[in-house]
Amino acid sequence: MFYAIIGKPIQHTRSPLMQNTALRAVGLTHEYRAVEIDPAYLERDVRKLVTDGCAGFNVTIPHKQAVIPLLSAIDPEAKAIGAVNTVIVKNGSLRGYNTDIDGFRSSLLPHKEQIRGKHALLIGAGGAARTAVYSLVNDFHLTHLTIAARTPDKARVLANTFSERVPISVCSFEEAELLPAVKQAAVIVNSTPIGMHPNTNASPLPATMKFHNEQIVFDLIYTPLQTTLLLRASANGATTVNGLEMLIQQGARAFELFTGKQMPIDIVKEAVLKSLSQSS
Ligand code: NAP
Repeated sequence: MFYAIIGKPIQHTRSPLMQNTALRAVGLTHEYRAVEIDPAYLERDVRKLVTDGCAGFNVTIPHKQAVIPLLSAIDPEAKAIGAVNTVIVKNGSLRGYNTDIDGFRSSLLPHKEQIRGKHALLIGAGGAARTAVYSLVNDFHLTHLTIAARTPDKARVLANTFSERVPISVCSFEEAELLPAVKQAAVIVNSTPIGMHPNTNASPLPATMKFHNEQIVFDLIYTPLQTTLLLRASANGATTVNGLEMLIQQGARAFELFTGKQMPIDIVKEAVLKSLSQSS
């Protein structure tokens, strides 16, 4: 019996480090493997994983939506988000969950009161943005959400899917459109990879844009922990949140689903921080 993460590419994922560290710390000997699966062979390779004895697996890019038709059951929240990152295998049947939502939610929850009744700006409209939009409109009592994307059609799909509770508008990356959204937002979330290692000088917002001390700026990136966006936001007095907590908490919830045990967060965080410091 073993656990796994499936995706392509898969070599940069921290999940094997996190899950194997946690498994050993709670006295379990099962292995958690990284398994590269090409989108063309997703169904065949998932079936093989199950027959080989996989009891549960995480799902990363590009399979979080494509895995859904292969499931026998799906958790209601994962269904509403439209993406699955954790699958539990029981007697050959597959049940899907979304634990990214737990990570996103717990990262912003300490700032809930500061965000309540205010505007939010989400940058990016890819896979992680689906989770971000779902949580922003359901957990934080916003009055308005703007999604800024270089492919506005993708942002419009998100806006149409999730605008029942909160009005959602879409804007491009043009400075004239972005500036009012940045000024109004009590929380700004970056869900693009702009600023991620190795392009650490890049930022999804130009240097001319200023932040203020009542804003929360959350960058989902965790390599590096302090992106150019967060460094600028912090220099302007904004509160910043990096992607580490989200990474750890999505893994912790998945670990709980896999094993029924609590992840030893401190031990896992220490291992992740050590690995991040070695790779930067
Ligand atoms: P994704 O599905 O590929 O989506 C990326 C989004 O960013 C898309 O909207 C894409 O636009 C946009 N984008 C990419 N490069 C851009 C550029 N140069 N200019 C403008 N827009 C650009 O990726 P994802 O899964 O959502 O992940 C996004 C980021 O979140 C990554 O950095 C990832 O590491 C991070 N993340 C962190 C956690 C965590 O636990 N902390 C979890 C999930 C994701 P197009 O649609 O036009 O291509």
